[in-house]
Amino acid sequence: MNFDFVIIGAGPSGLTLACALANTKLKIAIIEKNITKNFSKPKIDGRDIALTHRSIKILKDYGIWKFINKRNTSQIKEARVLDGDSSKYLSFDHKNTIRDNLGCLVPNQIIRKAIYKEIKDLKNVKIFTKSEVAKIISNQSGSKIYLKDKRIFFSKLTVIADGRLSKIREKMGIYANKTNFKTSMTVFRMKHKLDNYKIASEYFHYNQTLAVLPIKKNLSSIVVTLENAKSKTFLNMSKNEINKKIEQDLKNKLGKMSIVGKKYTYPMLTVYTNEFYRERCVFLGDAAVGMHPITAHGFNLNLRGVSILQNEIKNAIINKIDMGSANVLKNYEKKFKKVSLPIYLATNTIASLYTSQKPITKIARRSLLYIANKMSPIKNAIMDRLLVNN
Ligand SMILES: Cc1cc2nc3c(=O)[nH]c(=O)nc-3n(C[C@H](O)[C@H](O)[C@H](O)COP(=O)(O)OP(=O)(O)OC[C@H]3O[C@@H](n4cnc5c(N)ncnc54)[C@H](O)[C@@H]3O)c2cc1C
Repeated sequence: MNFDFVIIGAGPSGLTLACALANTKLKIAIIEKNITKNFSKPKIDGRDIALTHRSIKILKDYGIWKFINKRNTSQIKEARVLDGDSSKYLSFDHKNTIRDNLGCLVPNQIIRKAIYKEIKDLKNVKIFTKSEVAKIISNQSGSKIYLKDKRIFFSKLTVIADGRLSKIREKMGIYANKTNFKTSMTVFRMKHKLDNYKIASEYFHYNQTLAVLPIKKNLSSIVVTLENAKSKTFLNMSKNEINKKIEQDLKNKLGKMSIVGKKYTYPMLTVYTNEFYRERCVFLGDAAVGMHPITAHGFNLNLRGVSILQNEIKNAIINKIDMGSANVLKNYEKKFKKVSLPIYLATNTIASLYTSQKPITKIARRSLLYIANKMSPIKNAIMDRLLVNN
């Protein structure tokens, strides 16, 4: 089967790229190992994605945002970072920006459903589900993509978006910088008596990180990160025990709390690929940069990658340049690395600093928060870069 463009992996990154290229004449195939229902009716996975204003604009530009009902979005007015039991916190408030919020939270399955709604009727895109890629062999004229069931696809440019544990990246012998934090993140929702005032809070306690993400006035998404062994103990606690624990950890700031629905747990492993492209193949999404969710950048960065790549491809088409040529792919690598590497390194440092029990790191992080809060240029830079314009 011959295509101009093949995307491997129908996750949010791969599918969004296909939406972005809908208005080109490219014949696009998406190859995905899972069944169609996983994408047309994605299940709740507990993740609430904090989208920046830039990401919302990207989703609007690609025709995806119109499928996200406003009822499913929750504004964040302020973000607070708290260290240990200290009552002082680092605050990022929308009042210090030109916006009336810092961004908004949208459940992951709602975003995925919206992407699928936009993609399913696109004339130039064909999705092949229940199709697992086994290997890729490329040369100057294109790539041969071999499926496990022996089908073969031919493509002028192949986008590899098969997730952070990308087997294809490994098979191609591409090294990736990986950090296993040996921690797990458990997400679930809780009702609470008191208002959360649309404030997102991240509490760095000395043996756990606890985030509270405002969904409704009296409903929040709770994210608990613990060492793997402690995480298992936490998962075995009864609902009552968890309610009491979170009330205590939050010092009753939200009043009486009760867990609703299921808990979802994710291992914390970050990845940064050493090479963003090889002959006629390019890496996108978590397969290129798999972030620690502590700073809520993963999907936002993926969207930046999509935006940069589609721009390079469209420019190549306009200028009648081969879109799979090394120069085009190199430009994507250069631009995306510039955006993603500082955020990746900073996030990993924060994740390590705030999970360490060593006394010296406790002092370091308390000082860091104090300095960042006092010095408005630092705060404004973080705000501008991470929350408003990222
Ligand atoms: C708890 C948690 C909270 C998060 N919160 C945020 C947040 O607040 N803000 C934010 O921006 N991001 C957040 N993220 C990150 C975000 O969810 C991910 O970055 C994003 O979902 C990754 O999308 P992707 O398409 O790159 O990869 P994936 O979703 O992993 O998709 C990869 C696809 O490739 C397919 N595939 C794999 N191998 C093959 C093969 N050989 N052949 C065919 N198909 C294959 C898979 O089946 C899958 O469908 C969070 C993540 C977690 C875990």
